[in-house]
This record gives sequence, C-alpha cells and structure tokens, in this order.
Amino acid sequence: MDGLREDIDFQTLKTNGIKVNYLYVCERKLWLFDRGIQMESSSDRVLMGKLLGEYSYPRETTKEILIDNLISIDIVGNDEIREVKYSNRLAGADRIQLLYYLYYLKQLGIEKRGVINYPKMRRREEVVLTPEAEQEVEAALIRIDEILKLDKPPELQRKPYCTKCAYFEFCWG
Ligand code: SF4
Repeated sequence: MDGLREDIDFQTLKTNGIKVNYLYVCERKLWLFDRGIQMESSSDRVLMGKLLGEYSYPRETTKEILIDNLISIDIVGNDEIREVKYSNRLAGADRIQLLYYLYYLKQLGIEKRGVINYPKMRRREEVVLTPEAEQEVEAALIRIDEILKLDKPPELQRKPYCTKCAYFEFCWG
C-alpha cells in the first residue's frame, strides 16, 4: 500500500482511535482497556457532551463518519477533520490519535488536514501528516500490537495523572 513501510501490514495492525490515544497515555491502561476492563466514568463523557454542545459550530458543515467500526471522525467542510478536547493535559495523546485518523484516511485515498480544538482554552492546533508523522503512527501501531500480545498488563508506572485515571483504584487501590 502506498506510503507504508514494507514491514507494516496496516490491515492487520489497524485498531481503534482510543487505543492509539491510550498508548501515549499509559501502556498499562491500553492493555486493561483492550481486555475489556472498562472503568471509564460516565461523568467525563457527560461533561464532554456538554462542552461539545456549548461549542458546536453551527455555521459549518460537520459530518460524523464511522469507519470499520474503529474510528469515528468529524469531517468539517471539504478538507478538515476535527477533534474537540476538553483540555490539553494529554496533548501528545490527542495529537497521535488525530494523526492516526489522517493516516487511516490516507490509506483510503483521502487526504485532509487535522485540527484539534480546545474550546475551553480558546486554542486551536493544526495537525499535519508529514512523512515523519506517518512513521510515528506506524511505530505506534507496532507498539500497540506488541503490548496487546502480552499475557499480563505492563508493570505499574506512576504517572502524574494516575489519580484522575478511571483505573486508579484497580492499579493502586
Ligand atoms: S492508574 Fe496510572 S498506571 Fe494505572 S492505568 Fe491509569 S495511568 Fe496507567
């Protein structure tokens, strides 16, 4: 497939966007989530829904597209995909997730630009799928595959945001 390194089998490695995000948050969280241990509180989603509602973009044409039951993308206008995030606390994870979406679309022959909106901070960040970024996405997919093949969750590693993680009690209780 164009743009892919020979050792990447995208059809085998493709995964859902949240797992790409979690790779950059915490490898242990990724493993737990993959095994169906889902402890995300609904409060985050309620809050996010409220925010998304407050900061909707009525003048723009937004269409949500679900691809392969793996990624759900807001397409805005003709050339932009967008993610709206509550805060930039995990900006690296937000960025790789959106890069992954851009990469995924490219495999389908669709090229777009990415934008992350942080409405609470009135910030907007452009995300571009450069050749280096493509390699970063490919490395992420390979790493996810390695982690998910582990028999046991990755070792505990304290993160600054552990106390805010839905798995906090599970890991540290
Ligand atoms: S509590 Fe910390 S170590 Fe456990 S899954 Fe969450 S971020 Fe990872």
